[in-house]
Amino acid sequence: FTGKTGSELLTEKIKKYKVHEFQHIPIVVKENASVYDAISTMFLEDVGTLFVVDENSCLTGVLSRKDLLRTAIGKQDLNTIPVHIIMTRMPNITVCRKDDLLYEVAKKLIDKQIDGLPVVKETDRGHEVIGRVTKTTITKVFVELITDDQL
Ligand code: ADP
Repeated sequence: FTGKTGSELLTEKIKKYKVHEFQHIPIVVKENASVYDAISTMFLEDVGTLFVVDENSCLTGVLSRKDLLRTAIGKQDLNTIPVHIIMTRMPNITVCRKDDLLYEVAKKLIDKQIDGLPVVKETDRGHEVIGRVTKTTITKVFVELITDDQL
């Protein structure tokens, strides 16, 4: 018996959660995809954040719902504007790695006021996008912790 309280044990358990245990598949579009295609992909894949990649699957940008809405309410032809014109681009993208702690990612989502982060792996061509962690990921963990009685 460790003498630790339930709450101390719970904290220890949560603090050890790593990104790779919870990350989801990333939904990506190419830099030259049109804004129209990006909007379609967002609906079809049922995600709120898309990652933009180059021909090597390396991260070049992020597209949020509002990035696309802002463009959609403009006068431009959505079929002819490539996403690289409107995306938030590298190096201004907050990323995480598979061995990062999940709670550190949760803190980043709050600090940066964003909905999700790409999980990246360093390669000689750049940051390859291998996953995603979003507010939904964190919410699911929260619910699982409560549903899960074995500590
Ligand atoms: P929304 O814009 O739909 O409210 P977010 O809060 O996630 O969604 O995005 C806010 C802004 O931050 C957008 O312009 C988006 O491109 C950008 N953004 C989203 N995720 C990231 C990220 N991981 N790193 C940097 N910027 C991001």
